[in-house]
Amino acid sequence: MSVEESKLLNINLSSFELPINLSLDLNTKTLSFYKHLKCGLNLQSKALKAKDLNLLTRKLKLLLPECFKHCYNALTSRQAVFINALNPIPLFGTRYFGIIDRGTNVLELRPNTGCNLSCVFCSVGEGFNVKKTDFIVEAYYFKKWVDYALSFKKQSIELFINPQGEPLLYQELELLVKLLKQNKKVGKVSLVTNGLLLPSNFKRLIKAGVSSFHVSFPGFTNVKPLVGLNYDSEAVANALKQIVLQEKPLELWLTPVWVKGLNDLQVKEVVKLGLELKRLINENNSKAKVFIAIQNYLQYKAGRKVKGFKPLPWKLFYKNLKQLEAEFKEFKLNLTLTPSDVGIKPDNFVEKPLRTGQVVKAKIVCNGRNKNEFIAVTPANSAEPFQSLDFKARSIVVSSNKQSLGKLLGKTVLVKITHSKHNLFHAVVA
Ligand code: SF4
Repeated sequence: MSVEESKLLNINLSSFELPINLSLDLNTKTLSFYKHLKCGLNLQSKALKAKDLNLLTRKLKLLLPECFKHCYNALTSRQAVFINALNPIPLFGTRYFGIIDRGTNVLELRPNTGCNLSCVFCSVGEGFNVKKTDFIVEAYYFKKWVDYALSFKKQSIELFINPQGEPLLYQELELLVKLLKQNKKVGKVSLVTNGLLLPSNFKRLIKAGVSSFHVSFPGFTNVKPLVGLNYDSEAVANALKQIVLQEKPLELWLTPVWVKGLNDLQVKEVVKLGLELKRLINENNSKAKVFIAIQNYLQYKAGRKVKGFKPLPWKLFYKNLKQLEAEFKEFKLNLTLTPSDVGIKPDNFVEKPLRTGQVVKAKIVCNGRNKNEFIAVTPANSAEPFQSLDFKARSIVVSSNKQSLGKLLGKTVLVKITHSKHNLFHAVVA
């Protein structure tokens, strides 16, 4: 088929060892990788002059690694970086995407960023009209890094899918869970979600292997000012009721954020929903378990601050939880959960190839999530496409208040590591 015969081309990238399809719209000069992930081709328009599909596909092979760095998320309208085998940014090194290991039997996984809500208390500042860069990691690429991380662990590991945003917006979530479950070391697969998209998705996710849902259900009364959007609490609550009645022994965690004085009523509604779910479980001899794990409202540098409200000191927060337990004392609730209640145990750390104070050569590969931040990769050559994967490579968040950092994009520079805890690296240009 010649290019002229069609204005919309579907191209399979498996010949590039990338198991995704893309479609190229010749009218808008737009490449689409997933439903929401697109790349304009204005800079690379010479590929569009190609006479036939084979030639075009070969040219795309050269152009794709650049395209993956300059996508946009059609849902959030933000710049997005698509990480995959041809844009092999390491999945250890930042909180923004990839894997976080804190030396326990839990690995935290972050396959995407971007959210469909805009909560007033969001700890990562997600939502609408926010200037951030989005990151999306391709599922097969993600699995390779998780297998590497699991090779250090000695016990059954919980995979805790907890991105800076909403994981149900990640188009490959079901596939990713199925791939991850192939590793025998994987025990529980947990999903942290705001719940909005659960009603139409929970069944397929359970089938894929999700066994624990952590839902930041915001309550029933007047929740729009809290989450920034219409939230169909009844529909989500109905989905939660169906989840606890499944045959599989699932866990459901209700995890609202409590801003004392702002959403006290809604937090009590969540507790009541938890009690109703427990009643349903008992009446139906279900194997499901429900936990109520209320979160303290905390403020972070990149997070959102609720005007007029300060985070509570932990002592006072626990006192408030105890008071809430007393209000519902006939139900013998435990709202003050500890790491052992949630099953966290120490385990080996994944190897950490960099240390604080070290000066290393790194390639600045793309913008970071926030203003004045970039992602660098060391060793520099491991960021090149068509390289075999280097699991000792790490991503580093390089920050600077100087505008000049932008000029370094694509260059290899010396950076000094200023933070290296838990394989999370920050640096400044040396
Ligand atoms: S708190 Fe969670 S659900 Fe709310 S905006 Fe942030 S990431 Fe989204």
